Amino acid sequence: MQSIAIVGGGVAGLGAAYSLRDRAAHVTLFERDDDIGGRAATRHRDGCAYDYGANYLKDGDSRVTELVKGPLSDGLVEVDGPVWTFDAAGEVSPGRDADEHKWTYEDGIATLAVRLCDAADPAVRTEATVESLERTNDGWVVWTSDGSADGERAGRVRNGAFDAVVLTPTAPNTADVLAAAEWDHPVCERIREAVAAVPYRTIISVALHYPFSVDVPHYALVNTDREHEVGWLSREECKPGHVPGGESLLVVQMAPDWSASRYGDEGDAIAADAAEHASELLDDDRLAEPDWHDIGEWRYALPDDGVAEGAVERARNHDLYLAGDWVAGDGRLHAALVSGIETGELLGQGG
Ligand SMILES: Cc1cc2nc3c(=O)[nH]c(=O)nc-3n(C[C@H](O)[C@H](O)[C@H](O)COP(=O)(O)OP(=O)(O)OC[C@H]3O[C@@H](n4cnc5c(N)ncnc54)[C@H](O)[C@@H]3O)c2cc1C
Repeated sequence: MQSIAIVGGGVAGLGAAYSLRDRAAHVTLFERDDDIGGRAATRHRDGCAYDYGANYLKDGDSRVTELVKGPLSDGLVEVDGPVWTFDAAGEVSPGRDADEHKWTYEDGIATLAVRLCDAADPAVRTEATVESLERTNDGWVVWTSDGSADGERAGRVRNGAFDAVVLTPTAPNTADVLAAAEWDHPVCERIREAVAAVPYRTIISVALHYPFSVDVPHYALVNTDREHEVGWLSREECKPGHVPGGESLLVVQMAPDWSASRYGDEGDAIAADAAEHASELLDDDRLAEPDWHDIGEWRYALPDDGVAEGAVERARNHDLYLAGDWVAGDGRLHAALVSGIETGELLGQGG
């Protein structure tokens, strides 16, 4: 039986596991965090669920649509309301709601990962950061820093051996794993260089809660000229099950330049700025003072481009597979999921 390691428990890694679910393969998924989902991320507080990474899944791929309306449909809900636009001056205009369907789950977008994982049923190891890979004669050894596997060396833990490895962390995280790899072959550095070159946008996402409802005719506002300090502002109460009646929870995603310059700053100051912007954009003074807030920082939020052609095939020739939104060249859930599914299918066919 083929033994496969998947690194990363976002939708790409889980999509790969899903494709392999009925194959004669033993699949182990290593996830750095204490939970799966990656950037399909939801938090809970005071009866609210809020998606502070990906806002929703759009119907961007027919296979993904079939999956979420079929085997992954339990708890799926449609976001209610249109997306409007605003410009550098904060001028709001109706329109540009390009996505026919906007899906999340009643308990948040992270449920997408849970549904995939339940259906795929891989062996999941959370809090298991893959530090490095080691090339052997017939496959790969995976070195983690979790301290819970079957042998130790220099503070690291040996897991393996695997016939193939699928790498799905963001491109910079994948490049780190490749930089540490014990793989004495010139192609390793060529692949690492291509992966490390993928450009990313940083986003700070701010959740602002209010004990009253905000009455506006749109679900979200998106900044179309990319000149405003806010990139996106949306209302979680437009997602069935997310916010108790009579309350409002705004998600304000700050623009990439602003986010990069304020990354790591004190959360209260970031939230105060985001709340001030929310109050101006929605023309409601009350919004400057939320009763609570929460901050999510995404250093590598969205890839601005895909990995250079050739790198994926070069890696595959050595039983090393790359998947994720940065492989698809599109920072979207459906693109990441398809990338994972197609990678799993290739593996299932024996590469
Ligand atoms: C603020 C924000 C808003 C967004 N809005 C939308 C939206 O509205 N709609 C949409 O479709 N998409 C949106 N996206 C993009 C979407 O979230 C991503 O495209 C998608 O989640 C990528 O999935 P992935 O599996 O490729 O990567 P990830 O979800 O990043 O998964 C990679 C996983 O690898 C793990 N990992 C990293 N390094 C290691 C390691 N060394 N060892 C083990 N595990 C490791 C990480 O913890 C993570 O769980 C948004 C993203 C952000 C950040």
